[in-house]
Amino acid sequence: MKIAFIGLGNMGGPMAANLVKAGHEVTGFDTAGVTVEGAATASTAAEAATGADVVITMLPNGTILRAVADQIIPAMSPGAAFVDCSTVDVDSARAVAQQAENAGLMAVDAPVSGGIGGAAGGTLTFMAGGSDAAFAKAEPLFDIMGQKAVHCGASGAGQAAKICNNMILGVTMIATCEAFALADKLGLDRQKMFDVVSTSSGYSWSMNAYCPAPGVGPSSPADNGYTPGFAADLMLKDLRLSQQAAVSADADTPMGELAQALYTQFVEDEGGTGKDFSAMLPRFESRGRS
Ligand code: NAD
Repeated sequence: MKIAFIGLGNMGGPMAANLVKAGHEVTGFDTAGVTVEGAATASTAAEAATGADVVITMLPNGTILRAVADQIIPAMSPGAAFVDCSTVDVDSARAVAQQAENAGLMAVDAPVSGGIGGAAGGTLTFMAGGSDAAFAKAEPLFDIMGQKAVHCGASGAGQAAKICNNMILGVTMIATCEAFALADKLGLDRQKMFDVVSTSSGYSWSMNAYCPAPGVGPSSPADNGYTPGFAADLMLKDLRLSQQAAVSADADTPMGELAQALYTQFVEDEGGTGKDFSAMLPRFESRGRS
């Protein structure tokens, strides 16, 4: 397939490289001038999109996605697919899909989980929203860049699944970290805490697969000085998107709201920026109740 890849950052670069490796003809574009080995480089987003069967975007946010969509949709050929893999607000995902469909294109919102390691290893999970035909067109590419793709529903459903998942993740990580800090103060050994909780009803991905306590459980960013992994800043981005969606859908999400407030404080005032999101544990460790 002829593929345009727009946004070749930490995630997009390795994803595009995997498409090249699989034998696809890839043309890349990034405003920062980043290039990918084996891919052609265009001088504008519209130039990359011209004549492509599929255009994939991997961009920082919904505002940038909307601006890029305005540039590429008029350049794309009817029947081509616009696949956005960025994490953006549900409203932008739906607006861009509508704009693409109005121009005779197929559209899929397909945010990912799995981080930079998953992008490099081709093991991402894709959560997709769009028509059956659009998903079918993008699925072979998801199979190259990832290990699982779930068709979640109509346009916006992929973003909805992503922010609901990450709202649960933010909340459970905070709960896991505050419980470890309480256990410390109660004199409970961290390994014993892990042994019990990871096999009891308090278990979660945060505890079992990504334990925030160094030296306990499987290897995780905690064992590497809390170097991300999944940065607290990105968790905050996703929590903000979840709360923006909750306001727009009139959903009551008190735990998500509190998680957003805590990650805001952590990132903006407590040195959490640039650290893994599990660095909430040393944050709680260093505090008392006041
Ligand atoms: P990044 O900042 O490394 O990459 C974004 C790229 O987009 C940059 O290279 C930037 O130059 C480029 N860009 C910005 N504006 C552009 C424009 N108008 N035209 C073309 N290129 C433009 O970010 P990333 O970590 O690769 O994340 C990309 C998306 O994936 C984000 O939406 C993020 O939330 C999501 N995501 C990231 C991770 C992660 O672990 N990094 C995990 C899951 C999802």
